[in-house]
Amino acid sequence: MAITHSLGFPRIGAQRELKFALEAYWQGKSSAAELRAVGTRLRQQHWAAQAGLDLVPLGDFSFYDQVLDMSFTLGNLPARVRDFHGDALDNYFRVARGRSAAGSEAHGACCAGVAAGEMTKWFDTNYHYIVPEFTADSEFRLDASRLLQEIGEARALGLRAKPVIIGPLSYLWLGKAKDGSNKLDLLPRLLPAYAQLLAVLAEQGVEWLQIDEPALVTELDEDWRHAYSIAYHTLKSTPLKLLLCSYFGPLRENLEWALKLPTAGFHLDALRARDEVQAALNYLGSHKVLSLGVINGRNIWKTDLNAVLDWLEPISERLGERLWLAPSCSLLHVPVDLRSETRLDAEVRSWLAFACQKLEELQLLARALKSGREAVAGALAENRQAIAARRSSTRVHNRQVQEAMARLHDKLGRRQSPYPVRAARQAAVLQLPAFPTTTIGSFPQTAEIRQIRRRFKSGELDAAAYQAAMHGEIERSVRAQEALGLDVLVHGEAERNDMVEYFGEQLDGYAFSQAGWVQSYGSRCVKPPILFGDISRRQAMTVDWIRYAQSLTDKPMKGMLTGPVTILNWSFVRDDQPRAFSCFQLALALREEVLDLERAGIRVIQIDEAALREGLPLRKAQWQAYLEWAVEAFRITANGVADQTQIHTHMCYSEFNDIIAAIASMDADVITIETSRSDMELLEAFKSFKYPNEIGPGVYDIHSPNIPSEEHMLALMRKAAEHIPAERLWVNPDCGLKTRQWPEVMPALRNMVAAAKRLRGAA
Ligand code: GLN
Ligand code: ZN
Repeated sequence: MAITHSLGFPRIGAQRELKFALEAYWQGKSSAAELRAVGTRLRQQHWAAQAGLDLVPLGDFSFYDQVLDMSFTLGNLPARVRDFHGDALDNYFRVARGRSAAGSEAHGACCAGVAAGEMTKWFDTNYHYIVPEFTADSEFRLDASRLLQEIGEARALGLRAKPVIIGPLSYLWLGKAKDGSNKLDLLPRLLPAYAQLLAVLAEQGVEWLQIDEPALVTELDEDWRHAYSIAYHTLKSTPLKLLLCSYFGPLRENLEWALKLPTAGFHLDALRARDEVQAALNYLGSHKVLSLGVINGRNIWKTDLNAVLDWLEPISERLGERLWLAPSCSLLHVPVDLRSETRLDAEVRSWLAFACQKLEELQLLARALKSGREAVAGALAENRQAIAARRSSTRVHNRQVQEAMARLHDKLGRRQSPYPVRAARQAAVLQLPAFPTTTIGSFPQTAEIRQIRRRFKSGELDAAAYQAAMHGEIERSVRAQEALGLDVLVHGEAERNDMVEYFGEQLDGYAFSQAGWVQSYGSRCVKPPILFGDISRRQAMTVDWIRYAQSLTDKPMKGMLTGPVTILNWSFVRDDQPRAFSCFQLALALREEVLDLERAGIRVIQIDEAALREGLPLRKAQWQAYLEWAVEAFRITANGVADQTQIHTHMCYSEFNDIIAAIASMDADVITIETSRSDMELLEAFKSFKYPNEIGPGVYDIHSPNIPSEEHMLALMRKAAEHIPAERLWVNPDCGLKTRQWPEVMPALRNMVAAAKRLRGAA
């Protein structure tokens, strides 16, 4: 009966062991041998955790990123690191993280600086991979050492394992041709490296190979479809059985031809492509294995096992041994083990499943298919009860919130007057100079600030002492901003650990894990809050801090909020209602906060939507629908205020070309964006769209410790003024300053204010 397997396990470790081992190594506090030993140990632990499966994945572990691993396996190294002679692992980290010429890092034999590989989002997840680099003359040379080592480890443990690699077309699809050449032209050179890899694996006695082709769920043109056909017809002579894996979505127009490619098996994400399962059965033919991803690898809820069995049983009967069961995608995107959560609210906890629990669910399903539901009756009953409890819990369902949702109305999202009228009223109130200066919100999060927050959380510091300390920080940043001569001030966000968690903690309907870490990139992990129920605000969340900050100065103080779309996109969210509903609930709660700030006399309110772009669906055809509700959620949050109140928003990226209409329809009075690195070119999108409102294009690259000169920022602003009318320009950094140090921030902002003054003189 059904074979159970998994597409990949989280590699960071239940206690983030890999993160700490990597960072110790990078800081020169441990050796390469020690780091490698941690890798080996984690792989063993992860295999042990998956021991109940019929086939465990192998090669899914990574010291940094699975795409970068594939680049090294294929010998596709950027030219700038090819002549490196030290430890290969160090070279790998050079591409992953770059290296400054100063050689401040402890490891690496070479001292010249090297640029890091570009990093970008892995499909629609919050994981980021290192983009493969191509040129017209890219060559590939197989280096199977990583996989061979792991095959040896698995064999020593007596495991039945299935190596995992990224398929040739998705590998090309994920990369970038640095010279503008056509990536697909590389396929004839790439395929021999794959063929060779397959031969090496076959020699090792590997039976099944998981070959990931997630690009199959995207829109592919004729050339790409053709290339898929060439690739898999070329590789079909291998003695290995290939399990071609799609995930993260339905395949739609790609489904039929992808299933007919000559591979021994096909994996379909039965969460996101549930309605393609029937069609897949029809295209399957009489020999192919169909692996169904029946457990959600992207979220943390228990699976409704009885419901899955209802639709799975007939399929199992039809396919027998040819049905495989797996999570929908690699478990990389969920935390490791719910057993680490000892403090999580017990009721919420009973609704959750992390990676380890998901694999248990998988085995339960397989056992039920094999021996009948009676064989696992107890577990199924328990599961049914947990699902039912969640469905009817008053923690999840809040009448008041639902009534407010029913009253949602177009008018909520509309300002009283159009922008030109508002702009004049705001100008009269705010009395700002031309080229007004501001910052994006946070000031350096010093060690003292973190310590104070920690001591308050642990109860060591009482509320009064905490408030006094935070007031001290606010005062310090207000005085600094006044001394600098900034025009619109911020309170500095010292009280915030994280721009989403800070709000989640104060909203009903949110829960927080202790150790629910998910890898974002390399050693960076995030702990997404869990949005489990209808969202409501217990009380004002930011007003006291902002009111205090405003009391210290006559300059306008910005109220500072995280927007509903960003909070949603950086959380684990409910699977029992559309994302849009949860987003509107967040919007309603935040709208109250906006109105409270306005009532407290705050004249400028910034609502950050750093992650608006991140929520874009994989297929362009679905973008419009997403953007419509996302923008509407922002508008509901922002637009209840009077004309005189100035609404800002902030987005820290620079690709606006394809979403500029949506950005404009948010109708914020001012938008600040990241531009300093792109040399203001992105403003073209705003120019050609005739973006109507005010814009603050970042002139200070806050990701770098460099202090930008007055001349540099002046030149950037002059360039900006070629695209945007000068009277609508603001002067500000790219993003918040929390990761910088005061000694960098002060001179940089001094230069920025000086540049703004020069512009005013010239205007
Ligand atoms: N207001 C936030 C800050 O300054 C914005 C952060 C962000 O856009 N990522 O830190
Ligand atoms: Zn930002």
